[in-house]
Amino acid sequence: MKTIQEWTDENSLIKDLIDLKEVLWINPKYEPFQAGIKNLPLNDGNVKDAEERLNRFAPYIAKVFPETSKQNGIIESPIADIPHMKQKLEQMYGASLPGNFLLKCDNALPISGSIKARGGIYEVLKHAEDLAIQQGLLTHETDYAVLDSEEFKNFFSEYSIAVGSTGNLGLSIGIMSAKLGFKVTVHMSADAKKWKKDLLRSKGVTVIEYKEDYSKAVEEGRKQALSLPNCYFVDDENSHDLFLGYAVAAIRLKKQLEDLKITVDENHPLFVYLPCGVGGGPGGVAFGLKLIFQDSVHCFFAEPTHSPCMLLGLVTGLHDQVSVQDFGIDNITSADGLAVGRPSGFVGRTIEPLLSGSYSVSDDELFRLLSTMADSENIYLEPSALAGVLGPVKLISEAEGKEYIQNHHLTDKMKNATHLMWATGGSMVPKETMEEYYRKGKNLSL
Ligand SMILES: *Cc1c(COP(=O)(O)O)cnc(C)c1O
Repeated sequence: MKTIQEWTDENSLIKDLIDLKEVLWINPKYEPFQAGIKNLPLNDGNVKDAEERLNRFAPYIAKVFPETSKQNGIIESPIADIPHMKQKLEQMYGASLPGNFLLKCDNALPISGSIKARGGIYEVLKHAEDLAIQQGLLTHETDYAVLDSEEFKNFFSEYSIAVGSTGNLGLSIGIMSAKLGFKVTVHMSADAKKWKKDLLRSKGVTVIEYKEDYSKAVEEGRKQALSLPNCYFVDDENSHDLFLGYAVAAIRLKKQLEDLKITVDENHPLFVYLPCGVGGGPGGVAFGLKLIFQDSVHCFFAEPTHSPCMLLGLVTGLHDQVSVQDFGIDNITSADGLAVGRPSGFVGRTIEPLLSGSYSVSDDELFRLLSTMADSENIYLEPSALAGVLGPVKLISEAEGKEYIQNHHLTDKMKNATHLMWATGGSMVPKETMEEYYRKGKNLSL
């Protein structure tokens, strides 16, 4: 591997990352959709299959999580119009930001209150289905509400599930697995908040805590799971199922935008800004969106300045062969959902031709945006979830962003654009913790 000096000589952006500066990076490997989609390991058939599986489980979900019954057991979040936040952003950053500003409120997803309620829950359901079908207990034609029974719970109690997490994935996997009857162990990194561990323990989940970061929790979890019979490890760094569970969001989003009479086409571009940790969540959503909107959608990832792992993996082309710590970056951030030092190689390579770019945001900025979002729209998000909110500012006011807009012949179309910021979590945060976040943001805004 090259030395840090060689990397920074070759690419000044890497120097900025090391110096913890906020950056905007435009992906030089971005390709037109038809070219970029070739040779990828997954396709739209896989996403459709995941959507159908979630539909099969809907009667069960509606039964065991009554908060989803209004949506007939479909775990989905609303889209909010955020005109006041748009105004605030224009004031804060002294920029005119044309286009329509929308927030995808995954903070309000039922069951676990974050984007992990997509991929995490999907993978547990798929595993449960696989086991039950293998044993001849279920067919695709069965009403899956039967899973809510002593017979099935006893069956699943012979099996265990394990996962490594910074918190939110553990919550989703833990809650869903315990509900089905599985024995479940969550390996939590040092970043994981105490309330998340307490909540899981209250549901009968075994929580193992590590003093190290996410990569260590995953590694230990994987090792222990391998040594146990009947134990299934949810592999956040490599899982195609997690990725596909996230990708289903795109099919649902298309319908939501149609219902809101929002056009997405060549003359009405859609920009989507996705907070990124290891990459599965934002990668899966972006992949699904590209399959549907192709060249009309432009996806950007957002990471904390202290944990820009996916950005570093993409810029160097080394993907999971590199960590932020290799470059002397500490991976310490209040955005616990994004506190990942080493990206998923599978996601990096899959998303490489489809991703428009990526940027980094400081923790202070996340807190300022948090209190501003609360004041202007009365929407309370966790710090990670604010990373996407800075996207339009970066794209429209930074030189690299302006160049992207010009190169893709978007200048005249920006007034017709929709900017969708993916708010990835928040509703599970205890009130006192949220008040602390809010006060911190207010103080930083003075
Ligand atoms: C996990 C998480 C993300 C990012 O998802 P990855 O799959 O880790 O990239 C973003 N926001 C929140 C709140 C999360 O919990």
